Amino acid sequence: MTNDKLQIIIVGGGAAGFFAAIAAAKANPRARVTLLEASHQPLAKVRISGGGRCNVTHACFEPRELVKNYPRGSKALLGAFTRFQPKDTITWFQAHGVELKTEADGRMFPTTDSSETIVNCLMNVVKAAGVELRIGAAVTSVSLPLRIPVSEKITSRFEITLKSGEKLQCDRLLLATGSNPIGYKIAQQLGHTIEPPVPSLFTFNIKNQQLTELAGVSVNPVKLRLIVPEYPHLEQTGPLLITHWGLSGPAVLKLSAWGARMLHSSSYQATLVINWLPHLQQEQVRQQLLAVKNNSPKRLIASSRDVELPHRLWQYIVSCVGIAIENRWAELSNKTLNKLVQELTQGQYSINGKGVFKEEFVTCGGVNLKEINFKTMESKLVSGLYFAGEILDIDGVTGGFNFQSAWTTAYLAGSASIS
Ligand SMILES: Cc1cc2nc3c(=O)[nH]c(=O)nc-3n(C[C@H](O)[C@H](O)[C@H](O)COP(=O)(O)OP(=O)(O)OC[C@H]3O[C@@H](n4cnc5c(N)ncnc54)[C@H](O)[C@@H]3O)c2cc1C
Repeated sequence: MTNDKLQIIIVGGGAAGFFAAIAAAKANPRARVTLLEASHQPLAKVRISGGGRCNVTHACFEPRELVKNYPRGSKALLGAFTRFQPKDTITWFQAHGVELKTEADGRMFPTTDSSETIVNCLMNVVKAAGVELRIGAAVTSVSLPLRIPVSEKITSRFEITLKSGEKLQCDRLLLATGSNPIGYKIAQQLGHTIEPPVPSLFTFNIKNQQLTELAGVSVNPVKLRLIVPEYPHLEQTGPLLITHWGLSGPAVLKLSAWGARMLHSSSYQATLVINWLPHLQQEQVRQQLLAVKNNSPKRLIASSRDVELPHRLWQYIVSCVGIAIENRWAELSNKTLNKLVQELTQGQYSINGKGVFKEEFVTCGGVNLKEINFKTMESKLVSGLYFAGEILDIDGVTGGFNFQSAWTTAYLAGSASIS
């Protein structure tokens, strides 16, 4: 390496690493930018993301609204989103030949519905920008930079050791290693604090055969309340999907994100209270059921209903309160009516364990945000050291928010690392 060119090394060839490398190379075409990827397949998560479609970002263009989707990192990201937000992501991809489309729920995908479009775009732009991409280059350690007086000419400062034993030097080091433990270890060696990593965005396992036999049934919206002893209750309203193992759907995934730490500490044992009819007051539900009882006393309860629920779910709820298949509305006692109202508006389910959400998965925890300057993503502890992406203690709910925080932090870090 020569000393006249600024040497920037980016560790981690994922979404954040690629985006940062491109930003750095474009901001200073004279800098030498090297992107080190441990595996032989860069951008592996981008490839499998969004069920193979890559949910690139979310159509939410107001930073104050956008940050509400980050259980961890919202405060720090507010300023960052005023500098690079979903609008900028759309413009960036458009400028590089990729059109995005918005789905009804706000999620944005490439119009091709293929994550390969994003992978190919990032690969091509990295190449065109003159970034040196090295695959199979796993970093095992980084030595602390030498303290060099500001007035002195830039000289190589960080020493990076690869698994092969090879050593590299650079002036600026950008860590974008995602949730990889080696990345956390390196950040720690350089003096940073790591908030303990735990999973986020998962489904709830519910051992209830009668319920799971309804796999495929979805209800929109439901109101969920998550109860973990010794923690404040959490609530979410949105679509719910019954699966072969328990419950999924956006409302569950959001709860799993907001409750990631408390659920981890309770070993994923908790109580979930479901209001299947959140648009009605309890009393309105009672009056609605009483009206059916009065108007159609001879009809079978299990096969007739006036509440807006899928038929199979109604049958299940009715059976939960002990109403037999042959019971008619006229036979419904006040006590059972109360139980039915209760089950419809405050049904209790035991969560025992977490399941996998295949479309998106992310880690809660990572480099403590107080140690980072969010204008530049530079470390406040080590000058010349930058962070971007999931290595940071930032994670969003499902919907494209995780990639957006990767694009934003990477863009800021990459652009700033040339100064
Ligand atoms: C199945 C799945 C689907 C997802 N779908 C979506 C989605 O549709 N939308 C969304 O917003 N988010 C999605 N996510 C989350 C999103 O993928 C992550 O938030 C994002 O990839 C984080 O990017 P990153 O670059 O920080 O980390 P990563 O993508 O994890 O990249 C880190 C890279 O660093 C490399 N690395 C690690 N350690 C070293 C080392 N020591 N030396 C060299 N290289 C190293 C790794 O090999 C990896 O390539 C999904 C996640 C998963 C698992």
